[in-house]
Amino acid sequence: MPRWALVCLSSLSMHRRRLSAFSPPPPPQATVPAKDVPVLFREPFIHGGYRPAGQRWSCYLLSLFQVHNESVNVWSHALTGLVVLARFLLLVGAWPAPFDLTALPLCLYVTSALTYLTCSAAAHLLQSRSELAHYCLFFLDYVGVCVYQYGCALAHYFYSAEPAWRQTAVAAGFLPGAALLGWLTCASCCFAKLRYRRPYPLRRKVFQLVPTSLAYLLDISPVAHRLANATGSPPDAGGGGGVGDVGAADDALALHALQIFFFLLAALFFSCPVPECFFPGRCDVLGHGHQIFHLFLALCTLVQQEALFRDFRARWRTLELVHGRDTLVGACASFPTLVLCSLLTAGLMCWRANRKLNARPKERS
Ligand SMILES: [Zn+2]
Repeated sequence: MPRWALVCLSSLSMHRRRLSAFSPPPPPQATVPAKDVPVLFREPFIHGGYRPAGQRWSCYLLSLFQVHNESVNVWSHALTGLVVLARFLLLVGAWPAPFDLTALPLCLYVTSALTYLTCSAAAHLLQSRSELAHYCLFFLDYVGVCVYQYGCALAHYFYSAEPAWRQTAVAAGFLPGAALLGWLTCASCCFAKLRYRRPYPLRRKVFQLVPTSLAYLLDISPVAHRLANATGSPPDAGGGGGVGDVGAADDALALHALQIFFFLLAALFFSCPVPECFFPGRCDVLGHGHQIFHLFLALCTLVQQEALFRDFRARWRTLELVHGRDTLVGACASFPTLVLCSLLTAGLMCWRANRKLNARPKERS
């Protein structure tokens, strides 16, 4: 073949390669039954609605607009994230003074809520790509949980606690304890995810639920104390009252009770595969326990955010006086440190997951 023909052919094939790189992704494939996906992806009593593994990342991104057994899980947290952000921007827009150090715990709380909602939506949207992606994305989901726990702890500590609670022994070790339990939740959930295979033993739930419950009990303690000692009088506003009003403070108390109620319902549906255990294969796309868990957790976050905004309005003027500038700065500085520690832990677990997957023969079903 003459040299000019070879040059033409090679330039043609390069052109085709470039074109295929920019070609639109193939349409998402139909969902498949549980037997067609790796064992790791199968959920108890969920028989269908799975997306096949091994497609391009773009297929999983586009599956946002497809109906499958993760659709509600993705949309519930993605939409909640947008509402949380919009509500926060509305507060900032209407705030009569510049946001200063006193608003830092609130900003970190909103950041933490957005982090957990985004990580969760991303994990549920993209996890079917491969077993390694499944592990790594859910480890990231646990980082989000840890970050959210600490964001809640900061906000409850600075905005929702009463003076009487601040005198207790729990208050003295509250923030370091919350950070430690947050990290422990992330590490323990990652460990349980990687260590145990289906059919999951009870120990897996113990590893997930014990640190999470301990962290929740600690993080909610300022609110629980306030609810238990509620007398109907306005909360401690340090005498200043801020730009808030007494009516708003009373509303905050009811909203705090509601956030606990929604969290308990969420925890119930997280712990038990209800209602799908009573109707195997009939709650695949709509109505299984994890979706209900997501919805109640989303409601918990929205109500909690509203309660914290009201507490912030009632107490922001006196916050620096009550806690001191150094405590505020120190507590908030520990937030990025915790994020980094949990990210490193999740990264280490991804590395171990990769080693584990490479060390075993390929799974057939
Ligand atoms: Zn989830």
